[in-house]
Amino acid sequence: MLIFNNKADLIAQLSAHLSSKSSIGFVPTMGALHKGHLSLLEKSVQENDITVISIFVNPTQFNNPEDLTKYPRTLDADVEKIKTVSDKILVFAPSVNEMYDGNTVSGHFSFDGLEHQMEGNHRPGHFDGVGTIVKKLFEIVTPTNAYFGEKDFQQLQIVKKLVEKTGMDINIIGCPISRETSGLAMSSRNERLSEEDKDKAAVVYKILSRARELFATESVENVKKYVYDAFEALPEFSMDYFEITAEDDLVPANTKENKKYRGFIAVFLSNVRLIDNISLN
Ligand code: AMP
Repeated sequence: MLIFNNKADLIAQLSAHLSSKSSIGFVPTMGALHKGHLSLLEKSVQENDITVISIFVNPTQFNNPEDLTKYPRTLDADVEKIKTVSDKILVFAPSVNEMYDGNTVSGHFSFDGLEHQMEGNHRPGHFDGVGTIVKKLFEIVTPTNAYFGEKDFQQLQIVKKLVEKTGMDINIIGCPISRETSGLAMSSRNERLSEEDKDKAAVVYKILSRARELFATESVENVKKYVYDAFEALPEFSMDYFEITAEDDLVPANTKENKKYRGFIAVFLSNVRLIDNISLN
């Protein structure tokens, strides 16, 4: 399996595919791979002539230095997992210096307001960091199709907006959330939870699922109250936010219109920040 640490080598490898007009599928990740990441890779392998995965813990999208330091880095194990999907996948695992040339700062982006909601509000600078690294990676990999998980639904919408605004000719493909049998959304940060906490964390999806049931008959306000009250009764959790928004603009909804809605949650458990979301209708 080919692993690239520098962009020039990857670009050289991809140039042969570009000239033969092969389709390039791309799955950007921060590593510590789990089955959620692998589901994106499998889709890319099915739909493209060649697939590239990047593994890069991007410092500029972390607003919390401790979260960055503690982020799991498991390249060797990741490579073994990638091989289980296909040993033809190209792995791009650059250093911070390779991506930022000694200037580890974000650019500034407008995503037409998407960046001011939820994660944008609660993690200042996060989406400038995401925009910066995704744009750099897209310029290196020049994918035909790029795969992003609905686990980070706001990020998915922002990347679609990035491509629209910069005029890059890339299809952004959203992929469903992979969950443990308990319902817990798979996440690299789950590795920082004890087994006991992983069991407890399954309640997040249970509460979201109940919120979806309630959304059919109850007001937005009542559904939000249900979720806040449910977590109020669970002192080991600390709520960051729960919002109900339309999928397109991500602006918190007060009333229901003829649109698709989602519920979005961020909660802390044992100092680990868990995010999840669910389609409500
Ligand atoms: P990350 O490594 O956390 O930056 O995630 C890399 C990509 O995998 C992003 O597009 C995520 O949305 C996606 N992803 C992460 N967890 C899951 C999951 N449980 N199900 C589906 N996609 C996921």
